[in-house]
Amino acid sequence: MQITYRFAIHPTNKQQRKMFHTLKLCRKLYNWALSERQRVYKETGKGLNYTQQQNIIPIYKKSHQEYKGIQSQVLQDVLHRLDFAYQRFFAKEAGYPRFKDRNHYTSFTYPQVDEVKKTFSKPGYIYLSKIGFVKMTAHREFIPSLISRANVKFHGGKWYVNLTAEVEAPPIKNTIGNSVGIDVGLEFFAVLSDGTFIETPKHYRKVEKKLAKLQRQLSRKVKGSNNRGKAKAKVAKLHAKVANQRKDFLHKTSLSIVKRYKYIFVEDLKVKNMAKNKKLAKSIHDAGWSMFGSFLEYKAIQKGKVFLKVPPQGTSQECLCGASVPKDLSVRIHQCHVCGLVQPRDLVSAKLIERRGLAMIA
Ligand SMILES: [Zn+2]
Repeated sequence: MQITYRFAIHPTNKQQRKMFHTLKLCRKLYNWALSERQRVYKETGKGLNYTQQQNIIPIYKKSHQEYKGIQSQVLQDVLHRLDFAYQRFFAKEAGYPRFKDRNHYTSFTYPQVDEVKKTFSKPGYIYLSKIGFVKMTAHREFIPSLISRANVKFHGGKWYVNLTAEVEAPPIKNTIGNSVGIDVGLEFFAVLSDGTFIETPKHYRKVEKKLAKLQRQLSRKVKGSNNRGKAKAKVAKLHAKVANQRKDFLHKTSLSIVKRYKYIFVEDLKVKNMAKNKKLAKSIHDAGWSMFGSFLEYKAIQKGKVFLKVPPQGTSQECLCGASVPKDLSVRIHQCHVCGLVQPRDLVSAKLIERRGLAMIA
């Protein structure tokens, strides 16, 4: 499967001119190739395919000297894009391919990053053929040798690079001592089957209170009034602030788990019933949990680990011995009348999640 990293890049003025120039020439080629397909179809009743168009590139380049400054593979990718647009059209997934103007042709692609050593040889930079070493802010860890293509995009007045990594699902082998089950809840952000209790970050609590207060104020304001608009903006600002803090916390937490364990199991939260919690708290935590799940998942893939969601039914009502131990949310300690196990309920759940996961891959 593929994962993509998007990083901001910061070209010098000279590099930026080259990049805009590349975009322009790629777009010109795209439009020319499209017009060729139309012309040939009109004249012969038959369309051109990718290979036929690719064979014309050397001739096209001879009559258009300016294309010397662009890597051949980047040009081939342009024709692939057009071919893909036609394929989608024939498959009835999209309309007939259109000519592109500047606003609709905003990226070019190096389809084979085979010179890995050069591409990422300079820390903090990416090497783009014919453009040079461009400054890059990699805010996430990535494995250079796994990157197979680089797409350079101009968006919202800024330049980015989308790096695609090819990763394989790892083989499943020995699991003893390598696995962890994770239970998420409101008392603790998460409890791990190894006995780790991860506290809910304080800013969650703080912001919950603050948001609740603001929501109450908002509800008292007259609809359509100035004050209501201001109150709404306040709420939105607070949401944005906490979203950033949350992301940071989730990145760190998920990374530390993925580093420690090879097999990571969580409950499939989509089906977990959290209905008993207050609406507001629920929305904040839900957002955190699903993001936590997706961070765990991509980090696991990145590091060749296994991430699985297990069915959540009954993980809070069962004992490790298999006995049924029914308890409502207010009961925080699990006490089994059959085997005598006494442990925090979330810890027992985490252990059950781990077991279910191991059973799934056994
Ligand atoms: Zn028991």
